[in-house]
Amino acid sequence: MWRVSVDPFRVLFLLAMALLISSCAGGPSYVAQKAPWRDTSERACLASGNVQQTAFLTPVARLGGPGVCGALKPFEMSAAEYGRVRLRPAAILRCPMVTSVDDWVRNSITPESVHYLGSPVVELKVIASYSCRTRNSIRGAKLSEHGMANALDVSAFLLADGRKITVKRGWRGNSSEQAFLRAVRAGACKRFATVLSPDADRFHHDHFHVDLARHNSKGTYRVCR
Ligand SMILES: [Zn+2]
Repeated sequence: MWRVSVDPFRVLFLLAMALLISSCAGGPSYVAQKAPWRDTSERACLASGNVQQTAFLTPVARLGGPGVCGALKPFEMSAAEYGRVRLRPAAILRCPMVTSVDDWVRNSITPESVHYLGSPVVELKVIASYSCRTRNSIRGAKLSEHGMANALDVSAFLLADGRKITVKRGWRGNSSEQAFLRAVRAGACKRFATVLSPDADRFHHDHFHVDLARHNSKGTYRVCR
């Protein structure tokens, strides 16, 4: 017969450690604080009347993800430029992003595609919009602007003549594809606070990330890479 001596304090200690470890592993990893500017800028945008419900822009239920995720009145945007340019799949965005994306499509993407490629863009391939996650999905990293419906990832542009310009291949593609994608990035940098292209890092080798984050207290600092 085996005789096992058990130290009750040691058992308690081990139990406490196991609890601590399991709560770290399963607990929320979102630590970003809800900054007041988010609600202020969203309310100002909604009050401006510039963003109205259309067949291409419909309000969705408050997102209210874990922790600070979500927006006051998020929209599902299935097209820009009065319905002429599709967003596929439709993007979930907060009000200020809706106006900036529409402006980007109308006054940058459309004219640049006609200028450099001889055909207007009719569809943006969306690979991410609202998603309650950390930056680049890295555990413990800062909460991504995607978690606030304040960011959009675009991986390709479909033209009216049927061509498809992907960020992945076009970035090193022929000269007109390269010029188009760089002009579109420059257009994004005028309208968004953060623009990340394949020049930024390995996470963005195949898409453009655009968002309306605030990098300093006045919101004047921009990231364009
Ligand atoms: Zn992104």
